[in-house]
Amino acid sequence: MNCKEKLLEVRDLHKVYTKEGVPTKALNGITFNVLNGEYLGIMGASGSGKTTLLNCIATVIKPTAGQILLSGANISSFDGGKLAEYRGNKIGYLFQDFALLDNLTGRENILLPLSIHNMDISTAEKRLTDIAGFLGITDVLSKFPTQMSGGQKQRVAIARALSMNPDAILFDEPTSALDPEMVGEVLKIMKELAQEGLTMIVVTHEMEFARDVSHRIIFMDKGVIAEEGKPEIIFTQPKEERTREFLQRYLK
Ligand code: ADP
Ligand code: MG
Repeated sequence: MNCKEKLLEVRDLHKVYTKEGVPTKALNGITFNVLNGEYLGIMGASGSGKTTLLNCIATVIKPTAGQILLSGANISSFDGGKLAEYRGNKIGYLFQDFALLDNLTGRENILLPLSIHNMDISTAEKRLTDIAGFLGITDVLSKFPTQMSGGQKQRVAIARALSMNPDAILFDEPTSALDPEMVGEVLKIMKELAQEGLTMIVVTHEMEFARDVSHRIIFMDKGVIAEEGKPEIIFTQPKEERTREFLQRYLK
């Protein structure tokens, strides 16, 4: 596949949550594309709609209006096998809080999506061995999540997201729940995945990392895209004052 090809197209996406009769506009007309092999960084203050956007792309929630296209096909038209294929083989999702199942070992957590998708056991085992080796978690596979460090849990969650070999992975603040000493090891893995050419959409407050690794960065503000561009332009071109003001507006 040509690496310039559009994998995902997000078209005028809106999401309104209504809680006790009070509407909150979380997304207010978001439009962008994600190219094959692209690392797209998403930044923005808390409450700007980043998780809502990822949840819509992952089909965890439905947008109120707008469209998401996968290689030109509207994902809202997917049902049954097509939807399972989208969630399994097309899009992997790394939730902010790891979302591992506590009563399953690391190995069982990673194998879960493979068994849901009826992969034969020897292929699944081989894939588990390869991914665990790559992520350095072979020795925690028999542990339960409560026996793992935050960094280990996150690597198991990454392994689970990678296990179906998806075309793209969505990351929601992958280092925010980690102790500071664990942050570097998870960022290193993410950089390696980016270098392998995996398509990644990454919500993060790690500014330096986002600047170094992203092909493109989107800044969200109150449910809209406030700025979008290449990191070298978005971070360095504005005058110093503007940069400071800009960062105060958009970062934690
Ligand atoms: P971010 O991930 O950028 O912090 P979110 O997407 O979580 O932002 O939230 C965007 C807005 O939508 C916020 O105002 C938040 O309070 C609201 N919101 C998020 N989830 C829900 C929900 N399930 N019900 C009602 N309001 C929600
Ligand atoms: Mg969030």
